[in-house]
Amino acid sequence: QLRVRDLQKSYGNNAVLRGLNVDIQAGEKIAIIGPSGSGKSTLLRILMTLEAPNSGDIQIDGESIWTMPNGDGNKPADEAHMRRMRSRLGMVFQHFFLFPHLSVRQNLTLAPRLVNHVTSEIADETAMQLLEMVGMEAKADAFPAQLSGGQKQRVAIARALAMQPDIMLFDEVTSALDPELVHEVLAVLRKLASASDMTMLLVTHEMNFAREIADRVLFFDGGVILEDGPPEEIFTNPTHQRTQEFLKTVL
Ligand code: ATP
Ligand code: MG
Repeated sequence: QLRVRDLQKSYGNNAVLRGLNVDIQAGEKIAIIGPSGSGKSTLLRILMTLEAPNSGDIQIDGESIWTMPNGDGNKPADEAHMRRMRSRLGMVFQHFFLFPHLSVRQNLTLAPRLVNHVTSEIADETAMQLLEMVGMEAKADAFPAQLSGGQKQRVAIARALAMQPDIMLFDEVTSALDPELVHEVLAVLRKLASASDMTMLLVTHEMNFAREIADRVLFFDGGVILEDGPPEEIFTNPTHQRTQEFLKTVL
């Protein structure tokens, strides 16, 4: 479903992604781990089209995100193409980014109404179903400032789901939370991972969680994926010294 080929990204002379390759099948749950600065967030931002790569190709179901279909392969994508590709993806960030002036329910219905042209009734109905799924239906009319961090993050997850993406990207969604609030967000992710056939890519520092829900773990280091395998393998029997050293610091 998702195919990344020779992806390169530099900031000035800081080469962050140095020829990254990976294939992800529909429905796979992928945990991404690796040291700070290894390009984990950069990959997710490029997938989400928030940032352009310097070179390389990313395809969803055989169609390149960054270049036009049926072109010579080098023609940059136009805005309509980008929008269409972007609609396949949803992303949740470390810092929720809820719209502060909108209620919880309005946070969930805004984009479906404006971007997907869903009717208010349908958008509301979907919003309430999703809020129930994340255990936030009682707060539908509250505003973000009235919520705890864990509650905000559960709303942010529901908001991304409201756009019905088939690939969800989660970038350290528990890292900004007080420790006692982490479990409620992990519980939602766990539920999603087991109940949905969405493809999920999760950057996380929660190794036990990664081990529990991931089909595959990718270890990022030095701008490439140094290790790619099932969690048992990566966590108990990593091939590279670098992986062992990293795991020692986080386990
Ligand atoms: P962390 O675990 O700390 O979140 P990460 O693996 O997500 O790290 P990235 O955020 O992808 O790392 O950053 C990779 C490198 O790119 C870092 O050296 C960072 O300083 C640099 N970088 C990221 N975004 C920018 C930017 N907008 N401008 C310049 N440099 C950037
Ligand atoms: Mg990051």
